[in-house]
Amino acid sequence: MIVAIDGPAGAGKSTVAKILAKRLGFLYIDTGAMYRALTLKALDNNVDINDECKVNKLALEANIDLCNNLDGSLSVILDGKDVSLDIRQPRITQVVSEVSKIKGVRQVLVKMQRELGKKGDCVLEGRDIGTVVFPHAQKKFFIDASVKVRVNRRFKELKGLNQNIAEDDVARDLSNRDKIDSTRQVSPLRKADDAFFIDTTELSVEGVVEKMLELCKVNG
Ligand code: C5P
Repeated sequence: MIVAIDGPAGAGKSTVAKILAKRLGFLYIDTGAMYRALTLKALDNNVDINDECKVNKLALEANIDLCNNLDGSLSVILDGKDVSLDIRQPRITQVVSEVSKIKGVRQVLVKMQRELGKKGDCVLEGRDIGTVVFPHAQKKFFIDASVKVRVNRRFKELKGLNQNIAEDDVARDLSNRDKIDSTRQVSPLRKADDAFFIDTTELSVEGVVEKMLELCKVNG
């Protein structure tokens, strides 16, 4: 079974997707981490991210793997190296949406995501899972929250990673990524027609997970 979770940054996708996967005993696949890993590879190799040909070539060469750890965390492996923390750096967050709007990049990563999805039951989270990667997913969710709450959540998350970043900068980054992700030509962020919409603004993490578990049970 495939569970697709889409939505904008800070809506709470990763937090609930991880817990939901654990509760269902499914694999957890964070597709945003894959776009981040490729962005890291581009920056570390001094590849101009506006040079589509070069970035496409890099995507074809990249070896990106996701490992579900026993404690529920996810390790992101790029070309054999654990980059789980590196991909959360502000320098990556600032430009990842520019990399992920490139058509060739999406073709390569969507293919990888479909392969990962063949490994068994999984919960995948991203921007285009229910619309493009797995349009026939058995369960689809689109989760969102008010901008204020999303900024605050992301700010707290980054603080937890010891990143000294002002809340205003987090707000700017979020709105910039929302704009690029939802207006790009290839696979823009949007709710699939058959996805359940959940507004997490007023809900606790546990509340969202319970709601999703309930909806996963409906009709099998
Ligand atoms: O989920 P996260 O915020 O880590 O994703 C980082 C970026 O990766 C997003 O802002 C978006 O540009 C891109 N992304 C995407 N499609 C996905 C997942 C992420 O374009 N399925």
